[in-house]
Amino acid sequence: KQTQRLDKILAHVGIGTRSELKRLAKEGVIYVNGVKVKDSGMQVNPEKDIIQVNGETVLYREFVYLMMNKPQGVVSATEDNRDRTVVDLLDAAYAPFEVFPVGRLDKDTEGFLLLTNDGKLAHNLLSPRKHVPKTYFARVEWEVTVEDIEAFSQGVTLDDGYETLPGTLKILSTGNESGGVLSEIELTIMEGKFHQVKRMFQAVGKKVVYLKRISMGPLALDPSLALGQVRELTTEELTALT
Ligand code: URA
Repeated sequence: KQTQRLDKILAHVGIGTRSELKRLAKEGVIYVNGVKVKDSGMQVNPEKDIIQVNGETVLYREFVYLMMNKPQGVVSATEDNRDRTVVDLLDAAYAPFEVFPVGRLDKDTEGFLLLTNDGKLAHNLLSPRKHVPKTYFARVEWEVTVEDIEAFSQGVTLDDGYETLPGTLKILSTGNESGGVLSEIELTIMEGKFHQVKRMFQAVGKKVVYLKRISMGPLALDPSLALGQVRELTTEELTALT
């Protein structure tokens, strides 16, 4: 379908509701190809026609791709009865796009989270058959050892009997904290079972006390994003994903 209702397009990019757009048209601030719009319900081609509102050209797009540095305490969902969700952290301008998180991070996990309304891309990234690697930084009680590296490289058996695929474990440091021995590690896994990283360490008798995802597929968490901050993917990042 080439053409769509102008008010539908403008509502979709967050310019206003249909009734607000009717009012804006009456005020004479909407232009299509340089011509003042009288009927906000007119048909336009969003790919070709130049739409301006209050002198600003409207960038029409169907999909939005956002990278978030998820903070602790919010859930990876679009709605929740008790907790704030990652979608609650977004600027109101994104509301009309109805983005959702691609996969889940636990409430107490931080770091890289992709949000989009592109269901096809999300499906591809989450498909178990695609084995998209995800890398996590974690602090673990107690000492993580070369035996753990070896065990993870074979795959470990989780508490429900599930045998994980091989994971790549790197020990960054081990030190004495006030509470005891803590190791800092990086783990790359190719799947995403419920609480997988925590349960893999549980399988070798250790406990994850801090978890942050630092990359997913070809994309790394932008170090300039503070916790709770969001930015759109660059064209290069989006190309790398698809
Ligand atoms: N593994 C976990 O245990 N938790 C997460 O949030 C992500 C991976």
